[in-house]
Amino acid sequence: MLERLFNFKSPSESRTETLMVGARAVPLLMVRHPRARRYLLRLRPDGKARVTIPHGGTIAAAKEFALRNVGWLEQQFQRLATRPTSSRVWNPGSEIYFRGGQVRIEMDAAGTICFGTERIATVNVVADLRPVIEKYLRCLASQELPPRVMELAMQHGISVTRVTVRNQKSRWGSCSRRGTISLNWRLIQSPASVRDYIILHELGHRRQMNHSDKFWQEVARLCPDYLEAERWLKQHVQLLR
Ligand SMILES: [Zn+2]
Repeated sequence: MLERLFNFKSPSESRTETLMVGARAVPLLMVRHPRARRYLLRLRPDGKARVTIPHGGTIAAAKEFALRNVGWLEQQFQRLATRPTSSRVWNPGSEIYFRGGQVRIEMDAAGTICFGTERIATVNVVADLRPVIEKYLRCLASQELPPRVMELAMQHGISVTRVTVRNQKSRWGSCSRRGTISLNWRLIQSPASVRDYIILHELGHRRQMNHSDKFWQEVARLCPDYLEAERWLKQHVQLLR
């Protein structure tokens, strides 16, 4: 009955209406998700807001949830406008993602590149710092990701044959039938919780080699907050480009 108050355009399971974010009229999609554990709000790259309604949730509560988080949405619009990795070239002053946070690249007089807690001594002066920094990040990922895979695999009693860290352009990870887990080095740019979700997702494929309901039940068991990690990945899909 409450739903009538909101004047929905369509009576289907996913509904759209308009939400005012500051002076901006933003389309708000409300989509039911039986596996969601709570209401989730995200701003899609196309500028539409999307709220996920968990099992047993209501459209009215979803709308209230979105209204309560209008300030957060406004921040996301600003972030979208100043997205750090939209620039192809990395220079001193550029901001990049590192371990889930945005850090500024700096360079001292000796030519040492600094960002976050990291320091890279460079030999040659280069126009674009990106290749040097990416190589460094990839190396860091190769050191850190495989032990984390083995740690989580052991925790959950899942066997893994081999772990490789690669430079995939369109995926965060994969799992082969033989038990090789391949991870994208860019996971070093994501928060630890997102990195762990991707690892647990691939470990889940050791039990279900598909994306069936059974698989997602397995993922939910291994990583109860996986939808929040999925949300982060969708909002930062530009990291793969
Ligand atoms: Zn998968």
